[in-house]
Amino acid sequence: MSLSFKNVASDRVKTCFRVAYERFPELQENSVYLQQLPLRGYTMRAQPVINTSFFFRKRREYRIQMSDHLEIAQYIKPDELPDNVLIGWFAHELGHIVDYQRRTVLSMIKFILGYILLPTFRSGSERRADLFALKNGFGKELMATKLYILEQSPLPDKYKDRIKKYYMSPDELELLLLNKDPERILF
Ligand SMILES: [Zn+2]
Repeated sequence: MSLSFKNVASDRVKTCFRVAYERFPELQENSVYLQQLPLRGYTMRAQPVINTSFFFRKRREYRIQMSDHLEIAQYIKPDELPDNVLIGWFAHELGHIVDYQRRTVLSMIKFILGYILLPTFRSGSERRADLFALKNGFGKELMATKLYILEQSPLPDKYKDRIKKYYMSPDELELLLLNKDPERILF
């Protein structure tokens, strides 16, 4: 396991990230780091690191970036979120990494283009990230994150509308949780 942090001040945020990462057995071989930086237009995002290891699936490195840009930080401060909300959020981002890990270089490039060009592609990607997290047992935490963002956070409607457009709704997640078999939905 190779987990590291860049510029993350809060010990609680680090602990929540560790808790989420440890429950993804499929990611334990890859190096993953969490970075805090003033990212515009994103609250959090997961990406492969583009270096020579990128071309070798087993050695590929990944990063999750968390924004402390004022544009976002005025509404959502990660170190002030409840533990389960933060863990659910990290689990969703780690779910993206599981999705990337399955992909060859060519498939990864197609993915990046699809994500930029096709809105429906983005919804599919957000959905898969939730499903991979769900498969690893993060159903309750994902629900806590969704309910927090949509119902409790002071995020302006333009952000919430974008979230509703691209992300799985709490109602759909509820149905999946009742169904208890994400494997069947995934593939
Ligand atoms: Zn996502």
